[in-house]
Amino acid sequence: MNNQQFQTPIEYLKGVGLARAEVLKKELQIYNFEDLLRHFPYKYIDRTRFYKIKDIQPDMPYVQVLARVTQKELLGEKHTKRLIVQAKDDTGFIELAWFQGIKWVEKMLVPGKVYVIFGKPGFFNGKTQMSHPEMELYNPGAQQQKGNLTLQPAYNSTEKLKQFTLDSKGLQKLIAGLLEQTARDIHENLPAYILNRFKLAGRQESYRNIHFPNDANQLKEAQYRLKFEELFFLQLKLLKSKLTRTQKFKGNIFDKVGHYFNEFYHDKLPFPLTNAQKRVLKEIRTDTQRGVQMNRLLQGDVGSGKTVVALMSMLIAIDNGFQACIMAPTEILANQHYQTIKDLVGEGFIEVALLTGSVPAKARRGIHEKLENGTLNILIGTHALIEDKVQYKNLGLVVIDEQHRFGVEQRAKLWRKNIVPPHVLVMTATPIPRTLAMTMYGDLDISIIDELPAGRKPIQTVHFYEAQRLRMFGFMKQEIAKGRQIYVVYPLIQESEKLDLKNLQDGTEVMSREFPLPQYRISIVHGKLKAAEKEFEMQRFIKGETQIMVATTVIEVGVNVPNASVMIIENAERFGLSQLHQLRGRVGRGADQSFCILMSKEKLSNDGRIRLNTMVKTNNGFEIAEIDMQLRGPGNIEGTQQSGVLDLKVADLTTDQDILQQARNCVIEIFEKDPQLAAPENQILNLAFLAKNAGLSWDKIS
Ligand code: ADP
Ligand code: MG
Repeated sequence: MNNQQFQTPIEYLKGVGLARAEVLKKELQIYNFEDLLRHFPYKYIDRTRFYKIKDIQPDMPYVQVLARVTQKELLGEKHTKRLIVQAKDDTGFIELAWFQGIKWVEKMLVPGKVYVIFGKPGFFNGKTQMSHPEMELYNPGAQQQKGNLTLQPAYNSTEKLKQFTLDSKGLQKLIAGLLEQTARDIHENLPAYILNRFKLAGRQESYRNIHFPNDANQLKEAQYRLKFEELFFLQLKLLKSKLTRTQKFKGNIFDKVGHYFNEFYHDKLPFPLTNAQKRVLKEIRTDTQRGVQMNRLLQGDVGSGKTVVALMSMLIAIDNGFQACIMAPTEILANQHYQTIKDLVGEGFIEVALLTGSVPAKARRGIHEKLENGTLNILIGTHALIEDKVQYKNLGLVVIDEQHRFGVEQRAKLWRKNIVPPHVLVMTATPIPRTLAMTMYGDLDISIIDELPAGRKPIQTVHFYEAQRLRMFGFMKQEIAKGRQIYVVYPLIQESEKLDLKNLQDGTEVMSREFPLPQYRISIVHGKLKAAEKEFEMQRFIKGETQIMVATTVIEVGVNVPNASVMIIENAERFGLSQLHQLRGRVGRGADQSFCILMSKEKLSNDGRIRLNTMVKTNNGFEIAEIDMQLRGPGNIEGTQQSGVLDLKVADLTTDQDILQQARNCVIEIFEKDPQLAAPENQILNLAFLAKNAGLSWDKIS
């Protein structure tokens, strides 16, 4: 009953020793018993299925064949010595080869007998061959009872490990030994009522069965149990930290909806809110009058109208005697928010100021003063907002736009801007899949705007190949003739700035030839320009002085030019899905029908084709995010890299949505009834929670 034993260094396991321990640590980060037990198979080979020899291809994974040995032959001398065996079934012959342990195999194999042969097909001298297959005399009656595994676990290994005979088989042997020695000490960490309710297998048997299942059903149960456990404790941690936060920090109470909100809503707001906007406002309203600090993530596609929601939330703050601010990742965006909000509220309604790096010192001092004496209601800006010298009289609400670019650090800094930390609303136009949101931002509340304002015409997207370039030019001319403006975007190739620029220059040249002055005017924006030059070019486009804006992806975030209704993306196959979606979101902001043209070369990778097809098929950012995750895996979705929460061993966020939801709901229910985990039946959870958090790894066995 000694749970310390799982922390035993791996060199002490029978059959490991110092040399192999060294490689296990280096190659697989397996340091102790627990790490090895948690080195789960990445797949299972079905040993219930037999292949026909004629169907075997050299590139297949492990296969099982039933065949009669017809001939065996010892060839070569000394170190070239080998045993070559022929076997046949009713469809053909296969050659089997041994280079080691020859003597023993030679003795065991009896020509004329039928064997169950299991191995990985390969290619040798123009023939399909299996080297070192497992051979077992075929015995139709006894096959089942021998305890022969029908599902053979396959473990990740490396070339280096194989040199130490730690291939999949070798690892399997170690794990089998370890399980035999320790399985009894793997204790349950979920209360009986949860096990019963979700029909979960016990922990000990699940560890056994995930490595060595007797059948597919047992495997499924073991996986379900361990996935549930993994996700459950992750949610327990996230929701616990949320709970602690709400217990620790009081929140400013916005219990009034007053003059500012009402006047804006009834007299100034130029359009009816969408139902989604109303719902989110209600969520925010409920959150901010409970006396608990709000930490809410607002997800909504580009153009879904997040800014208005942010503004109206800020008006509630003002109605309750507080100040509010919006922090944007770039000056351009901050500027845009400033303009938008000034336009929406009009003159003399509330005091709004813009604070960015380029605001001159004198104006800045004025802003500081008004902030401190409370006459400034809303401050809009970049990082400049969180500099230490920026002091607020009474900051009640912070809105952060485009959260990927702000670290947790910066968020924390904002909290300290007031004695009672301000409510925080994080807005993102990069929808992430639900499962990801629940794990990455599991300690935040999440609001979703999943509806575009009425009357918006969905952007039409087409995919053109190089051969259709003339058609594209024709289309551009036609749209410009109608008075529209066009973006042409080139990919940024990180590895080579030179190539980027060349790409852009070549493209610009072609464009200038096709769209000559004076009839056509082109703006060019790229990363090499100084901020002022960039701004100048942008402004020319925004004012409508140029009809075409050729750019690298600098325009990705933000810019709002309602008259720009065509987005052309060059080398579209080079962009990731979410980036394509972001770019497309730059158009479709006005009343006109908007278009997106994806240009690509003829030959596309499979993923590339799926990406472009997805873009053509749907405008829904959440749908696109799901597909993006399926293509790239959760770990490659923007913003997830730094968040250790995705370090999942068994659960997979792309496929285990239901289990995640079950686990999360279960934790929510538990905390509602028993926030301290003090009830006797939750004792086991409390202990597991403490144990897991005491160590470095989250999913501790003990
Ligand atoms: P987001 O920040 O979510 O990308 P914005 O807040 O910039 O979107 O809104 C996009 C455009 O839609 C803006 O011009 C805004 O005024 C407009 N808009 C917002 N909500 C509505 C609505 N309910 N009805 C009509 N237009 C709206
Ligand atoms: Mg926005």
